[in-house]
Amino acid sequence: MRYTLFGQTGHRVSALGFGAMNLPDVPLTQAGDALNYALDQGINYVDTAAAYRNSEEIIGETISHRRSDYFLATKTKYRDYETAKQDIDNSLKRLKTDVIDLLQIHYVNMVSDYQAAMAEQGAYKAALEAKAAGKIRFIGITGHRPDLLAKWIGKGSFDQVLFHLNLAQPFALQELIPKLTEMGMGKVAMKPLSGGFIQPVEKAIRYPYSQDVHVIISGMVSVEQVKENLAAMELEVADAERQELEQLALDLGAHNCRRCNYCSCPVDVKIPDVMISSRIRDVFGLLPKGNQFYEKQQHSILSCADYEPCKETPLCEQKCPYHLPMRKTVMEAASYYR
Ligand code: SF4
Ligand code: SF4
Repeated sequence: MRYTLFGQTGHRVSALGFGAMNLPDVPLTQAGDALNYALDQGINYVDTAAAYRNSEEIIGETISHRRSDYFLATKTKYRDYETAKQDIDNSLKRLKTDVIDLLQIHYVNMVSDYQAAMAEQGAYKAALEAKAAGKIRFIGITGHRPDLLAKWIGKGSFDQVLFHLNLAQPFALQELIPKLTEMGMGKVAMKPLSGGFIQPVEKAIRYPYSQDVHVIISGMVSVEQVKENLAAMELEVADAERQELEQLALDLGAHNCRRCNYCSCPVDVKIPDVMISSRIRDVFGLLPKGNQFYEKQQHSILSCADYEPCKETPLCEQKCPYHLPMRKTVMEAASYYR
């Protein structure tokens, strides 16, 4: 596995990062075994968030005694100063540590979110104060709008960005990653499996591994998954394989959905999942995660065609910054049930 210097932080980070979001789904001993095994194998970047149920507590409980073995990244979802300040203090307690290496302002997709977080009494002020007090070391930002993130980082407020990069969402390559490289910032790619829609794991991991990023955060919950992810990074990606993966990403990314979630649906269609999985389904066929998703979504997807208020002008499409044909894609998805 590759190690690289992480932006301006002075840390050498492992290319595979432990994504702790799903640890609350498994027994504590299993979660602890997975985390400890990952550290034993040289994974030295652990990513969590205050919003990931009790993920921070699990980390605090199972690996805080090995604190010097990992670069610890967490997130606050709050936008205002007071709540973010409290959230950071709570994270320190839950993670059982005196210092968080990287505090990310979480899930900043809308301009209004960014403005609120950066306002005089915003979350960024709480992060700066925590940094001055030695409670955090670096400040980052996460989001699903690579085009906006590329603009926001230009002001030099952040040390790192966490963004989607996978075979179905290659969009960060357009502006964001080149800008981060130019600015010498930390580059962390998340969701290599696109939430489980992309398989096999090896192919899914090797695509972001072939690109210009420092860390790929993969959500893992067992020793077996850590082994599987590590195995995918055993060999560097040669040019021919990179080109093949890039071609596949162009194809799978043709849906153009960034998962920004601007498009809430009154009948609860999970629109970004439909947009992304439909394309994957066209190319690969249905995978187990896709099957489960379509089973659960059947009622909502089938309701779209009859939902009166959307017949003239689909409500979702009015909100999409990329003007995507979501209703058409959802209606096509409905044909899978026939
Ligand atoms: S067009 Fe369909 S998917 Fe879009 S908001 Fe209306 S019901 Fe939901
Ligand atoms: S369909 Fe459009 S609005 Fe909805 S998540 Fe995708 S890019 Fe965003």
